[in-house]
Amino acid sequence: MSTSTTCPYCGVGCGVLATRDGTIKGDPDHPSNFGRLCSKGAALGETLGLEGRLLAPQIAGRKTGWDAALDLVAKKFTDAISDHGPNSVAFYVSGQFLTEDYYVANKLMKGYIGSANIDTNSRLCMASSVAGHIRAFGTDTVPGTYEDLEQADLIVLVGSNLAWCHPVLYQRIAAAKEARPELTVVNIDPRRTATTQLADLHLQIAPDGDIALFNGLLSYLVDTQMIDLAYVHDHVSNCRDAVLAARATDPLGSGLRAQDLRTFYRLWAGTEKVVTVFSQGVNQSRCGTDKVNAILNCHLVTGRIGKPGMGPFSVTGQPNAMGGREVGGLANMLACHLDIANPDHRMAVQNAWQSPTICTRPGLKAVDLFQACADGRIKALWIMSTNPAVSMPDADGVARAIANVPFTVVTDIMARTDTGDLAGVLLPAAGWGEKSGTVTNSERRISRQRAFLPAPGMARPDWDIISDVARRMGFQGFEYDSPAAIFREYARLTELSVTFGKDLDLTGLSDLSDDGYETLAPVQWPVPRDGMARGRFFGNGQYFHTGGKARMIPTVPPQVETRDGFLLNTGRIRDQWHTMTRTGKSPRLSRHLAEPYIEIHPLDAADIGVGPADLIQLSSSHGRGVFRALIADKAQRGQLFAPMHWTRQRSSAGWVNASVLCGRDPVSGQPALKSAVVQAKRFAAAWYGFAASAAPMQPNRPYAAVSLTDTGSRGEVAGIKPPPDWEAEARAITAISDGTISTLHDAGSGLVRVAITVNDRIAALFFASPRPVALNRDAVVALIGTDTPPLQALAGRSGSGRADAGAVICSCFSVGINTLREALAAGATSVEALGAVTCAGTNCGSCKPELAALLSVARLPMAAE
Ligand code: SF4
Repeated sequence: MSTSTTCPYCGVGCGVLATRDGTIKGDPDHPSNFGRLCSKGAALGETLGLEGRLLAPQIAGRKTGWDAALDLVAKKFTDAISDHGPNSVAFYVSGQFLTEDYYVANKLMKGYIGSANIDTNSRLCMASSVAGHIRAFGTDTVPGTYEDLEQADLIVLVGSNLAWCHPVLYQRIAAAKEARPELTVVNIDPRRTATTQLADLHLQIAPDGDIALFNGLLSYLVDTQMIDLAYVHDHVSNCRDAVLAARATDPLGSGLRAQDLRTFYRLWAGTEKVVTVFSQGVNQSRCGTDKVNAILNCHLVTGRIGKPGMGPFSVTGQPNAMGGREVGGLANMLACHLDIANPDHRMAVQNAWQSPTICTRPGLKAVDLFQACADGRIKALWIMSTNPAVSMPDADGVARAIANVPFTVVTDIMARTDTGDLAGVLLPAAGWGEKSGTVTNSERRISRQRAFLPAPGMARPDWDIISDVARRMGFQGFEYDSPAAIFREYARLTELSVTFGKDLDLTGLSDLSDDGYETLAPVQWPVPRDGMARGRFFGNGQYFHTGGKARMIPTVPPQVETRDGFLLNTGRIRDQWHTMTRTGKSPRLSRHLAEPYIEIHPLDAADIGVGPADLIQLSSSHGRGVFRALIADKAQRGQLFAPMHWTRQRSSAGWVNASVLCGRDPVSGQPALKSAVVQAKRFAAAWYGFAASAAPMQPNRPYAAVSLTDTGSRGEVAGIKPPPDWEAEARAITAISDGTISTLHDAGSGLVRVAITVNDRIAALFFASPRPVALNRDAVVALIGTDTPPLQALAGRSGSGRADAGAVICSCFSVGINTLREALAAGATSVEALGAVTCAGTNCGSCKPELAALLSVARLPMAAE
């Protein structure tokens, strides 16, 4: 029997049907995905194993019981508060939290400890959208719904690689475009990405050129009399100031050509049903909040908001970033979209909680919070379900800051994470499939996550752990026996939001029974007590500022800064999630992109002497890293792209945020993770290697990246000088210390091949060369554990003699790029034809943009003829 639950990865919030044996299917009845799943969601069943799980609390690396661990946590926090005041402690939490977890953590910090020092990794994701919404609408409201994407005639994707980061939304748009080819898609992104495949127009904007672009659009709308004067008169304030600021802006500051600007402006102005989708490319910027408001201004001035098929649409990266926003998970917000700065709001929340205190001012936002750890202001820190020693900018500095805190607790599902390794106390959390609660997706839809597996070992849900600590600190108000009880309390608290004229209303759910909670179907808020569903916000032109009008915000493009070095853009890849603690468990997902890499323009690569498959060393004043070079003309010259997923657990130098030292948005505090300035040069490797082993390998060479395989693990390695003994080197890299070793050394090419057999089975294979190793890696991995004779195995070919399928493009069916190229050469002329021949793209469909890109490249010679 399957359990209806929700995918824990991105903000699309897809419904999943899961069974205890790990079978995962898309839920055909869930209104976010209607049965679709992307490659990550489809592989959820492969991430449920207990390898590497934290199964018991630990103090100083030793297993202990819950009582000892939680008594210590409660005492250390109580002591710090007593000795240094409430602002000497901090929580750093996560968009992975369920709403109930978030609610309890926020209540403890803001209502009982009396500090607002609780921030979340969502600060890195969408804090600029929150700030932009509040400035424009008077509250943090996402107006639209996913249906708007299907009803629009023009979709503008700004700073959003939807195809990789929100794949099911991409698929919904792709399906809508197939059904209605007249649906136009514009992709605004400094890079060409997988999403660009769907676009009718790609505007390769300059980094942070968005304000110039949208201010130019606002001027154009005014000049061509395309604004809705009556709407502005009745429902919008501050239009004149915003237009004056727009008029003072040169749209060419966007980095786009005048003719491309004209094309875009005509399209936008001439299409009534337009949805502007924006994401991290907008938010993760030194001017992210102004970018958001520059976009909102254009929708407000035309009244294109809150109606079918139109509106601005912020999509969130994390599965429950929205739930965190709702219950006050950010350091600058109270629960239920209420304001810390408002004494009436504070008093009302304190009364509702009957709590001993309430925070009186905003707490430390993420970057400031870790700065306070570094300079000794934070005496006790609790990090829950997130990995800031990897994901924060200046990651090594953040790791040192965490290590500097006298008492640090980390709650996680994994025993080893880069952040957990710094903690004095580790607490085991129940993971996805083991815990129950709710999440809110990007369109304000609340869905249930339901447990379908028992929590392993001593693991407990986060809400339960936090409540237990609160009780041990002597606080009353945390006697919850279920997530349903917490949800009811939260839903009741939204009465205050209604009372104070805010948007968040769940009062219709405040009397939900346990059974009602258990069977709760996905529902979009607001859910008022009268049960009248409202759907979109702002269709009636009523906003949440005093007077009921929306506010246009004057925005000014940032100064263009001269820089000495490359501009580094960081982001995500299709098949990994955050710091790989879960997706890294799936060998299938790791085959899409198995190493940390830098995407670099061919001319830039030539300038710094980097060739195909060479390594690049990145550095800044704060850190360095080493990455595989991926030479492609997707990025503009002078700009690099690197994924943010690799950690110290999986690479020796591939956690890119070590080199990222970046500015922050002054309003939202969100780090500008897409525009760090770095130096790049060729990494002077003396040798390159590839290894496959039956044992779990460690990333223990100057360059090393390891991932799991179906037969053990695999690793890419490189060294700066040849080792004195290749056999000892092979053993150290492959982690196989026993067995029989066979070595071939080709003096001419310098190629070294080592096989280790244990009990007549191949336990490890290692290949090294002065140049990047060209090898059928899948075939080598498949030899591990077989009884293939060592010398045959060292030929690097499988017993079947199968050709190298190449890097995996379709994760569902493990279809490699070489297989696809063969199909193209044999005459496949469409994505469907490729699917028919190879199965690629016929399950989750996440690889379809890459299939389309391969087809476009294959068609180029024909076009030239
Ligand atoms: Fe999960 Fe993929 Fe859906 Fe996002 S798009 S919620 S990662 S299945």
